[in-house]
Amino acid sequence: MKIRNKLTLQFSAIVTSLLFLSLAVIYLFSAYHREAQFYERLDERINRVSLNILNYDIYESGFDSDRKVKTGQLINECKLVFDSNNNLVYKSQNNCFMPDQKHFVAIEEKNEVKFTIEKLEVLGEKIKTKNGEFYIFVAAEDFYGRSKLKNLRIILVIVFFIISFIAVLSGRYFAKKSLDPILRIVGEVDEITVSNLNKRVNYENDTDEIATLARTFNKMLERLEDSFLMQEYFVANASHEIRTPLTLISGQLEILLNKERTTEYYKQKIISVSEDIKRLTKISDQLILLANVSKDEYNFRFEQFRIDELIWQLRSEIISRDNSVTIDFIIENMPENEELLFLSGNEILLKSAFSNLIENSIKYSNDRTIRIILQLSKQKLRISFNDNGIGIPKDEINNIFQAFYRASNAIHIPGNGIGLSIVDKIVKLHSGNIEIKSALDKGTSISVVFNK
Ligand code: ADP
Repeated sequence: MKIRNKLTLQFSAIVTSLLFLSLAVIYLFSAYHREAQFYERLDERINRVSLNILNYDIYESGFDSDRKVKTGQLINECKLVFDSNNNLVYKSQNNCFMPDQKHFVAIEEKNEVKFTIEKLEVLGEKIKTKNGEFYIFVAAEDFYGRSKLKNLRIILVIVFFIISFIAVLSGRYFAKKSLDPILRIVGEVDEITVSNLNKRVNYENDTDEIATLARTFNKMLERLEDSFLMQEYFVANASHEIRTPLTLISGQLEILLNKERTTEYYKQKIISVSEDIKRLTKISDQLILLANVSKDEYNFRFEQFRIDELIWQLRSEIISRDNSVTIDFIIENMPENEELLFLSGNEILLKSAFSNLIENSIKYSNDRTIRIILQLSKQKLRISFNDNGIGIPKDEINNIFQAFYRASNAIHIPGNGIGLSIVDKIVKLHSGNIEIKSALDKGTSISVVFNK
């Protein structure tokens, strides 16, 4: 069911049930009031009869229950008087109704009885006189009261239908009015495609929920546009990074094919081509790793391992490849409890992240000396990679985690700008943080902090 119809239905149901309840209360109250008023009048008639029984002899022929006051007769009024043995002693009309034994019993129990016979309403009471006890019944028809009640019923039914009809119409109108802005937003969003992602949803009133919805849509569009631009930027950079070594390789091979060369020349070119192929392989490996660590649903296995052992291992691997490098590894306040040295994570990914940070420190410093400091506490584990290198310009520090970004002072040093974006993703995967302190031409300290 459409929300518009649902809202109309709910609104109409609430209004009509409240209306029905109010009208029913009015009707029942009026009916009760009519009945009470009419029985009051019947009671007055009984009082008149009893006054006449008191003053005159009821057994005398020609006893008149309305002696003295003849006015105030009710429509189809009929009066019956019975003695204490339930024998009829007076009847105002021949075609009067006859009460049952149960009515006498009821008077005995409750002093009075009220009942209806067809259109007649009857009140029966017991009175005591010097001539003995008598049961008096007065019956009459409340013609005006009932017809007023009938008119009220008709009016209330008409009012009920008219107001219900108006409620349905106004419900539909207000539901449409409230939902129209949403439909407009849906229409506007529907028109937004990849080619016009810069379009935004319009909203007039700044404070209502529709404006909040439009603003949320606009924020989502901004994020989408950003990620599209990032993707375009990423694809452009990735293809550039791949194309450069490919162009170099094909250029060098063409030169070789142009004419006969010396064996030495061939050797040189093959070494150069193989360097380019290595570069290409590294880029594709990094891109694959970046793609994997960027996937939210990718399930990497997490295990407990000793962080100090991982760093020692990395240190010896790097030094064995290049012995001109100096790597100092310091564990501050070596804990007595070895458990503090354990970290839960994916060892292969963290090794690749730390190796990236170490290689950067070596690459961007002339003295090829780096200092790794491990600080441990019960809550945190902090590893910082410190160098005395070229540093990072202050206003560029926030950009270096973007894929392919290279700081302006690092352009002359080989690299592709992918490494730190992989490090960032790996650290985030381990719910860690990266902190950077850097001073131009003095050095850089990149710290990775994990919460335990
Ligand atoms: P690459 O080193 O291949 O350029 P990275 O993503 O590893 O790519 O690093 C991005 C940029 O961050 C580098 O180009 C460099 O400008 C800067 N950078 C990273 N580490 C250091 C460092 N230790 N010292 C100075 N600059 C650094």
